[in-house]
Amino acid sequence: MECDTCGRDAVHHAAYSGRHLCGEHLCESVERRVRRRVREDDLLPDDATPADPQRWVIGLSGGKDSVVLTQILSETFAEDPRVELVALSIHEGIEGYRDESLAACERLTDDLDVTHETVSYAEEFDVRMDEVVEDDPENMAPCAYCGVFRRDLLEAYADEYDADKLLTGHNLDDEAQTAVMNFFEGDLRQMAKHYDASLGPFPDRNPTDRFVPRAKPLRDVPEKEVALYAHVRDLPAHITECPHASEAYRGEIQETLLALEEDHPGLRHSIMAGYEEIAAMAADRYRSAADHDGELSPCEECGSTTAHDVCRKCSLLRSLEAA
Ligand code: SF4
Repeated sequence: MECDTCGRDAVHHAAYSGRHLCGEHLCESVERRVRRRVREDDLLPDDATPADPQRWVIGLSGGKDSVVLTQILSETFAEDPRVELVALSIHEGIEGYRDESLAACERLTDDLDVTHETVSYAEEFDVRMDEVVEDDPENMAPCAYCGVFRRDLLEAYADEYDADKLLTGHNLDDEAQTAVMNFFEGDLRQMAKHYDASLGPFPDRNPTDRFVPRAKPLRDVPEKEVALYAHVRDLPAHITECPHASEAYRGEIQETLLALEEDHPGLRHSIMAGYEEIAAMAADRYRSAADHDGELSPCEECGSTTAHDVCRKCSLLRSLEAA
């Protein structure tokens, strides 16, 4: 099959658009969608100046999504002094897995000359995921602990670096899976949170507020195209799966959506278009009814903002300590 744009051999057929693309034009198309998302989500406000630049912290795991995001943003804003990028990697304490992906992060950020910081569960919380999996005091899947710890560190460090935005590499498939899982669970509050955290307009940031606004500039790009982009450009992405990966339910949803997409091209895009509207309505509803989680106050252990006396991260750490 030939590329619709230049006639060279195509590496990809995007069934949802009907287009065949060679490596070069696939990469151009991915970059165009990321840049359009940056514009449409207003990531770079008009009042950003070289003297008062926007600082964006990117969660960089070394996997294909965050590597591609870092590459595209770095190239897009390489000559633009209104944007400063900081890549933040988190070491969860997973033997034989995270060390390799952190090496990929180092290579990428060295190549791009992007500031790179690494923090670890061991230093921050005195836990390692390999041990958490062994102890498992809450009888939960490993990712349930890991997701809480990761989110806490990304938010805490984005706040410490005085970031204007916290960017993550979620792609279209990730977002469509989350949308469908929220539908299936009938969880309007979760939809409202999802919208406020990363799909809706950015709130004005209060200087005392710890929540740094989040954005997902890859959210219009299907996972397969992100993977192809990394491959065509030979980016140092680490593709081995985590040995503790355990989100079985998400895996089922993923397989189902991919099978449906085969027969109904464009399904993921239409899921997201409808979901964003519903999530926006849910966000309005819970905002006008006060807060999604009631009164927020500082966690009595770590001071982070929570709807309970002790935040979820500290309560998990207490359980692990007692195990
Ligand atoms: Fe953590 Fe699960 Fe990701 Fe492994 S797959 S790094 S346990 S969230």
